[in-house]
Amino acid sequence: MAPRRKKIYEGKAKTLYEGPEPGTLVQYFKDDATAFNAQKKAVIEGKGVLNNRLSEYFMTGLTNIGVPNHFIKRLNMREQLIRQVEIVPLEVIVRNFAAGSIAKRLGLEEGTPLPRPIVEYSYKNDDLGDPLVPEEYIIAFGWASQQDLDDIVALALRVNDFLTGVFYAVGIKLIDFKIEIGRVWEGDFMRLLVADEISPDSCRLWDIKTGEKLDKDVFRRDLGNLTDAYTEVARRLGVMPTNTAQIKPTLIN
Ligand code: UDP
Repeated sequence: MAPRRKKIYEGKAKTLYEGPEPGTLVQYFKDDATAFNAQKKAVIEGKGVLNNRLSEYFMTGLTNIGVPNHFIKRLNMREQLIRQVEIVPLEVIVRNFAAGSIAKRLGLEEGTPLPRPIVEYSYKNDDLGDPLVPEEYIIAFGWASQQDLDDIVALALRVNDFLTGVFYAVGIKLIDFKIEIGRVWEGDFMRLLVADEISPDSCRLWDIKTGEKLDKDVFRRDLGNLTDAYTEVARRLGVMPTNTAQIKPTLIN
C-alpha cells in the first residue's frame, strides 16, 4: 500500500495533507459536524462528500468569474487539491438578512433584510470562541493591513453577489455566509484569495418560498436530517444527481 500522505493540519470538519507538488495541499472533507464552538458534535454520514462537491462547484464558479481562490481540482469523493496559502486568522462574515449572532446582538427578528450587505470579522481562535473584532484590532495586532482589508471586503462582496445569484436561481435565499482568506506570494507580490470551503456548513440558506432551512442550522437547532438538507441544495444546483441512499455505497474508499 502507498504510504499515507503527511498530515499538515486537522480541523473540525476537514484535514489537510501534503500535496503532490510544493505549494499544494490535499483537503479531505470529514463527516464530522460541530456547533457552538465544538460543544455539540456528531458524525453525519455523507456530509463530507456533499461539501467536497459543493465547495468545488462554488470555487469553480468563482474562478470562472475571475475571483481568485485556492481550488485546483477535485481528486475523489472526499478530497480536493488546493493551493497552499497562509490563512489570515479571520472569519469574514457577510450578511444580507439578520440571523444568528447579529439577530441576537441587535434584537432583530431572523430574516429581517439588512440595509446593505454587512461585512464583519471574527478572530479565528477556538479558545476564545472566535470573538467579533473591529478593523481597529485587526490592523493594530497586524493580522491584516488596511489595504488587505479593503481587498478582503471587495472579494467578500463579489463572492456575496455571485452566491446570492446562484442560490436565487434555484429558489434559495442567501442569508449570510463565512469565508476565509489566504495569502500567496508570487515573487515579491502578495495576493489574497478565497480559501477554506464554501458549503452549507458555512452559509445560511433558506428556501425562498417556505423559509425551510437548508444549512447547518438544521444540525445546530435539531431541525431534521442535515444530509437531506445538503442533498437538496446539491440536487437543486445540479451538483450531484443523487440522494443519500446513492451516496452511501461510495463512502467506502
Ligand atoms: N459561520 C461559520 N463558522 C463559524 C461562525 C459562523 O461558518 O465559526 C457562519 C455561519 O454558518 C453563518 C455565518 O457565518 O452562515 C454567520 O454566523 P453568526 O455570526 O450568526 O454565528 P452563529 O449564529 O452561527 O454562531
